[in-house]
Amino acid sequence: MFSKILIANRGEIALRVLRACRELGIKTVAVHSTADEDAMHVRLADEAVCIGPPAARDSYLNVAAILSAATITGAEAIHPGYGFLSENADFAETVEAHGLVFIGPTAEHIRMMGDKITAKTTMEALGVPLVPGSDGELTNLEEARAVAEKVGYPVLIKATAGGGGRGMKVARDASEIEEAWSVARTEARTAFGNDAVYLEKYLDKPRHIELQILGDNYGNVVHFGERDCSLQRRHQKLLEEAGSPVITPEQRDTIGKTVTEALSRMGYRNAGTLEFLYQDGQFCFIEMNTRLQVEHPVTEMVCDVDLVREQIRIAAGEKLGYTQSDVTFSGHAIECRINAEDPDTFAPCPGTVAVYHAPGGLGVRIDSALYTGYRVPPFYDSMIAKVIVHAPTRAEAIARMHRALDEFVVEGIKTVIPLHRRILADPEFQKGDYTIHWLEQFTARPH
Ligand code: ADP
Repeated sequence: MFSKILIANRGEIALRVLRACRELGIKTVAVHSTADEDAMHVRLADEAVCIGPPAARDSYLNVAAILSAATITGAEAIHPGYGFLSENADFAETVEAHGLVFIGPTAEHIRMMGDKITAKTTMEALGVPLVPGSDGELTNLEEARAVAEKVGYPVLIKATAGGGGRGMKVARDASEIEEAWSVARTEARTAFGNDAVYLEKYLDKPRHIELQILGDNYGNVVHFGERDCSLQRRHQKLLEEAGSPVITPEQRDTIGKTVTEALSRMGYRNAGTLEFLYQDGQFCFIEMNTRLQVEHPVTEMVCDVDLVREQIRIAAGEKLGYTQSDVTFSGHAIECRINAEDPDTFAPCPGTVAVYHAPGGLGVRIDSALYTGYRVPPFYDSMIAKVIVHAPTRAEAIARMHRALDEFVVEGIKTVIPLHRRILADPEFQKGDYTIHWLEQFTARPH
């Protein structure tokens, strides 16, 4: 096992990784920008190294500074968390070239899944069902038209390098295809420096359902069931559940088997998530994330597993601590992402937290790096906390989340807590009756 790990991240996820290290008896090295000198992950780590000014490209994305920090502190492995360098194949490669362990998949697999066309063709060859669409990259508008006619409108033009919901445009009918084609390509070129696009049938009422998997270096792959992440705004998830209100244990077993067989044949190692759109009883693969996800705690709660601990154990060369039959599902978990944003306009709202009081009690977990007096810096993601609840049934989990949010005090900055309260009180949400479009419609309603 490692004796020291560098955590190349900030905020709640840096803390999450630090906690797993502590419990494994591993020393931690925090890295931070000058804007994060007072951050909780810096205070709690055994050692901390400043790696640059506030802008992420000069600090949390600064590969040379992070590697130097690892070298001078004698860290043996790097955990990238999510975001920042976590899905950067060049980073993973550089880390290993320096004789350190990257806590994640191989650079080759990160690169493969980072290109959505390659990801789809790889998964298709391994027997995973896809959204109907183009056979790889589209080379010209005429080809886009022809494929759109074949699969039927509406269609979606998507960037192969896409992420964060960018580089995606819908064409409702033939009159919109030219515009969608050029807008998606321009957006992709500007955002990712790569204008390759492909086409998918636009599903009108899907749910976003994803499967958590873990693989070790010995070909063992296990899944930990699904998360329903259909509640999204601008393709950004806001509230997640495990399990999905619409998936039966039999459906979970079937898709789980398909996925674990595919990844085992690939030789995939460490944590990964396969994202699907689910409509009319069909799972359609859209992409794979080769890292720990923000919403991993809901899986941890229902499966009673520490995913970060497993990631570290696997990276250290240990065998997966679970076989598929060891994984059982108990109760229901919900996560609310608490963003420092205006709950109506979603404008970011950084500032000083005048009073902070976290909820507690049975079945409540808070993953956050906030404290009273903390200044939320304006330079990074606006997510400041995750409230996770676990209860025997979905109805009890909803009641528990209500209760937890009522106890939660974050004064001095605006948060989306009032929006979460409204969602939890909504009869459609309570019935579990929603698709990926539900939240956008809900937030547009007067209240
Ligand atoms: P990104 O990497 O930018 O997050 P994804 O491919 O994961 O892109 O898609 C993000 C979201 O966009 C999905 O969760 C879903 O809400 C929507 N989406 C993607 N593909 C389709 C599709 N074919 N039909 C309908 N909605 C889609």
